[in-house]
Amino acid sequence: MRISPLIKHCWIFITDRCQLDCDYCFFRTKTRTKTLTEGQVRQLFGLLKDVRKIEFVISGGEPLLQWDLVASLIRGIGRRHPKSFILLQSNMILMTPEKIRFLRKHRVLLEPGIDGLAETTAKHRQGTSLHRHRKICENVKMAVGAGMEVFPTMTVHPHDTSAMTANFKFLAAMNVSRIDVHPAFLAPWTADSARDFIERYRRLAAFSRSTSLKTKLCPCYSRPMAFGHDLVVLPSGDILPNWTFLTFPPKIRDKFFIMKLDDDHVLFHASRYRDLLGRYMDLFKKKGVSYREFSNFNAALAMRQWGRRCATEGFRHYRDICRAVKTIDRSLL
Ligand code: SF4
Repeated sequence: MRISPLIKHCWIFITDRCQLDCDYCFFRTKTRTKTLTEGQVRQLFGLLKDVRKIEFVISGGEPLLQWDLVASLIRGIGRRHPKSFILLQSNMILMTPEKIRFLRKHRVLLEPGIDGLAETTAKHRQGTSLHRHRKICENVKMAVGAGMEVFPTMTVHPHDTSAMTANFKFLAAMNVSRIDVHPAFLAPWTADSARDFIERYRRLAAFSRSTSLKTKLCPCYSRPMAFGHDLVVLPSGDILPNWTFLTFPPKIRDKFFIMKLDDDHVLFHASRYRDLLGRYMDLFKKKGVSYREFSNFNAALAMRQWGRRCATEGFRHYRDICRAVKTIDRSLL
C-alpha cells in the first residue's frame, strides 16, 4: 500500500521528553523516554518521496532536547522537499543564538509555546518559573530580532478567558508575526466559558484588524482546506492521520494508527487506513472544510469510542467555539 499523495501536514514528534508538564498538552501519553531513530527518519523520507509540497511541523515533547536530530531532519527536508515549509514548535527554554542562526539559514518558522503573561503561562505550563518565563521571552525576542518568522499559539484555558486580551497584547509587544489564539482542546469548556471566549475573540479580531501593530491574529486554521490528511509521527514510529488522536487514552488512540515506521520498513494498517480515507472523502464533499473542522471530525470519531460524558460536553462547547471562530475569522480577518 502507498500513502495518499495529498498529505497536508507532517507532524514529527521527534521525542516525548520535555522539561514542562502543561495541563493541556495534547501529547497526553508521553513516556518521557522515547526518541525517533535515524532509521525511522529514513523510512519516513522514503514514505514521502512522491509527496511534492507539504508542511512539516517538528514537535515533541521538546525538540531542542534532541538538537542534533532536529538539525539533521531540517537538512534532510531541505534537500528532499525544498518547496515545503518547516515549522519548529518549541518551549524555547534551550534556544540559543547559534540555533537561531541555523534555523534562519534553513528558513524554518518558529512556533514558541507561550500563552502570554507569566501568570497565565505558569498556571498551565507547569515547570515555567518566573525565571524561565523571562528566559523564554528573551529567546522569543532574540528570534524576532534575528529576522525569523515567529508565531506563538496562545492556548486559552476555560478558566482564563478573562486574560485573553492582556495576554494577546503582551505577546504582540514582542513583535511576533502573528498569533493563533486557540481554545484548549479537551478542556472542561462550559456554555459560559465558551460564550466568554467567543465574545473576547470577536473583540480581539476587531482590534487586530484596526491596529497598526505588526502582529495580527492568525486565521489560518479557519481557511478552507483541500482533501487530504496529516501524518502525525510519534517517537515510537507509530503514525496517526491527525493530531487530535494524541489527546486520547492509548486504548482509543491506538485504534487510529495507520502506519508504523521501523528502522528498516514501514508497516501499513491497510484496512483501517482505507476506512479513514473513505470517511475523509465524504467529509470533503462539503465545501469550505477548514483544518479545525477536519481535526474536530477526527476527534469526534475518537470521542464516539471513548464515550466520557464530561469530556463529551466540554468537546461540544469546544466545537461551538471553533464554529464561531471560523465565522469571525472569515468576516473580520
Ligand atoms: S512544552 Fe509542549 S510538549 Fe512540553 S508539556 Fe508543554 S505542550 Fe507538551
